[in-house]
Amino acid sequence: MDDMARDGVAGAGDLGEAWFDLELERIAATDPVLAHEIMRRQDDLEKKIIAASAEAQTMSEPEEFVAPDRAESGPEVIIIGAGVGGLSMGAGLKRAGFKNFKILEKAKGIGGTWYHNRYPGVACDVNSYLYQFSFRKNYDWSGSFPSGPEIRTYLEDFADHFGLLDHIQFETHVDSCVYRSGRWHVNLSDGSVIEGDVLISACGFLHVPNVPSIKGLEDFGGVCMHSAEWDSTYDFKGKRVGLIGNGSSSVQIAPNLIDDVSSLTLFQRTAQWIFPAPKNQYSEQRVEMLRQRPDLVDRLYDFYMAWYADGFGRAVAGDDEAKQFFIEACEQNLASIEDEGLREKLTPPDPVMCKRLIFGDGFYQALQRDHADVVVEAIEQVEEGGIRTADGKLHELDALIMATGFHTHVYCRNLNVSVEGGPSLNDVWSSGAETMDTIMVAGFPNFFILGGPYTTIGNLSTMTCSEVQTDYIMQIIEEAVSRSAPAVEAVPEAQQDFVDEMQAHAQNTVWVRGCSNWYLDEHGKVDIWPRTPRHFLDFMKAGPNLDHYEFKEHAAAG
Ligand code: NAP
Repeated sequence: MDDMARDGVAGAGDLGEAWFDLELERIAATDPVLAHEIMRRQDDLEKKIIAASAEAQTMSEPEEFVAPDRAESGPEVIIIGAGVGGLSMGAGLKRAGFKNFKILEKAKGIGGTWYHNRYPGVACDVNSYLYQFSFRKNYDWSGSFPSGPEIRTYLEDFADHFGLLDHIQFETHVDSCVYRSGRWHVNLSDGSVIEGDVLISACGFLHVPNVPSIKGLEDFGGVCMHSAEWDSTYDFKGKRVGLIGNGSSSVQIAPNLIDDVSSLTLFQRTAQWIFPAPKNQYSEQRVEMLRQRPDLVDRLYDFYMAWYADGFGRAVAGDDEAKQFFIEACEQNLASIEDEGLREKLTPPDPVMCKRLIFGDGFYQALQRDHADVVVEAIEQVEEGGIRTADGKLHELDALIMATGFHTHVYCRNLNVSVEGGPSLNDVWSSGAETMDTIMVAGFPNFFILGGPYTTIGNLSTMTCSEVQTDYIMQIIEEAVSRSAPAVEAVPEAQQDFVDEMQAHAQNTVWVRGCSNWYLDEHGKVDIWPRTPRHFLDFMKAGPNLDHYEFKEHAAAG
């Protein structure tokens, strides 16, 4: 607790003062209570910012990006995925002056997760100012959490700015990737092959929807859709809707659907904790103000970075004092449910943050409406008319929404990566996915991964993760170019040391406290970054230890 800082805030009677006068990053990192108060009282902050308009700077027009010219053409690079990771990598190559790359994307547009997820209320639960690349900031966010469409617009602008669109090949499905004679051969489902020196998977971890195999699902007479495969043509007005799952997606869907439907039945297997995160809409005045004051956007970015990376991050990585704030906030949120029976149903059996913490707004309110119901009896089967639960009751439905998450541990397994004459990546990962420094796998030359195993994908911004991983990969590529080494590979012993360290830290996390969560793989092993996001950032920003990578004079066999 930072008493001096709190006194300062209380004394000034104006959190806006705190904004300017206190060390915001330090507060965010060390005092989650005060930091949250500052976030919560956005109005005070807004008034202060507007009052400061007299000091407005004139923001220079965003500079046009001109890729630097380089003597070397660099390696021929194939990136798979035009989501946040793929665009980050493309920009990384472009900013370094390498233009010889292709981005293969299975969808018709860019954005990855943000292209596919179009359910009502889809938004990011990381603050807007943080959910962007540090080197291409948006000043126009309309509220505290960016909506899916807003993020798509941001990414489209990003791709356009760095001239990435010409590099993207849409509707391109990869069947397999084989390293042969020192080159990667990417086999596409139309039978064609694309070759390159370097292969980069930017598939991420939220790209394979989990549709549970519930008995009788195919017999359902109504409309059924997964949250990531939304049918925007379906009109929910007046419909009896079933919602399976209560993770981050469901918590966004329910409040945004409740007004339309005639009934909403939530089928809940395990109640989850929800951290109250009100969605503040920013006034036009404020947005305009921030356009004039890029320095304030930088401060907001640093503030939220410190909060997520240090304040929140410490709680996740096992710091009991930091955790207490989140526990109390979630408990108070739950206590806001008036009906005791409903509150009991929604009381999670697991410790706060054992599952990925949900940041939500309006979920409990939606479930307290008269036409909402929470069903905790197990689903027995789906029938033509609805869902029958274990107590024998048929819940009649017109539409069924599967907010049942993703096969998060697939990573890039569906790319069927292999080295000719060697094992496949899927074989190597058969007892768990492992990486070297989060971005390579020993035995697979010139193959890099963004958003793969041991990335800090908890509640930190994916943009930030992608940015630092891109920089890290770029340093290895640059080193290979400067050494004229056609191939680089992770040293197996160094990878083992890295994995051992990750696993040792994993034992301190809240995720191994007994609940089922998607941070554990099918073998019960944590395979995301098990320390604070700050550790992750520091680790990635320190850059690779080049002794842990073998730069080869000749392309490896294969
Ligand atoms: P999720 O968090 O994995 O939740 C899936 C839900 O479906 C859980 O409640 C789960 O219950 C339930 N479920 C799964 N299979 C079931 C079955 N056979 N029968 C009954 N219930 C079943 O999925 P999600 O909500 O789509 O979120 C996934 C991830 O996407 C998030 O953790 C987050 O990383 C990302 N996401 C982010 C945002 C954002 O704002 N940044 C928004 C949405 C999603 P159990 O708990 O019992 O397994």
